[in-house]
Amino acid sequence: MSYKELIISLPNERLRQRSRKVGLVTKEISHVIEQMKNATLDWEAHRPHELGVALAAIQIGQPWRIVVIRNNFDDKTDQSFGVFINPEIIKLEGSIEEDFEGCLSVASVYGKVPRYNKVRIRALDEDGQEVRIKAEGFLARVLQHEIDHVNGVMFIDHIKDDHQAFFMLTKDGKLEPLDYEKISSSNIFRD
Ligand SMILES: [Zn+2]
Repeated sequence: MSYKELIISLPNERLRQRSRKVGLVTKEISHVIEQMKNATLDWEAHRPHELGVALAAIQIGQPWRIVVIRNNFDDKTDQSFGVFINPEIIKLEGSIEEDFEGCLSVASVYGKVPRYNKVRIRALDEDGQEVRIKAEGFLARVLQHEIDHVNGVMFIDHIKDDHQAFFMLTKDGKLEPLDYEKISSSNIFRD
């Protein structure tokens, strides 16, 4: 299936819903995980300037607390993912930094989002084993963005009042400021 049939976008209300905890990693759950990886790679295959970094299950309309994250952010030919089931933030630390974020469920819009630069998380892997990760920098940002998704929070919710925070990607891959009036009159903000 192509990413267009799988990935849902704002203003789809499902993206604002809290996802359910996974009990056992059943065949159905494994199938959801495969679809998430395929949708991310297919999305990326259609975009020359972007990396399909990560996806939460709700982004393919499946309300499970599951996140997949690329193992290698620098090399598109590495198509492997880490799988995080029932991910939880244990600790946010370091300092708060602003950097660009995009989302497969918010077409063409990028934002400068403040996030902690260090995070500790706990999750289960595909075998149901507990994993703990201490991350910093871009991975810390990605983990916070994805764990937001399982709680029904979108990156734009963090910056909805910031008139200078929104950008769009041009055809040649550059980020340009986006008119705040335009974005605030669109239907992507939560009521
Ligand atoms: Zn996202």
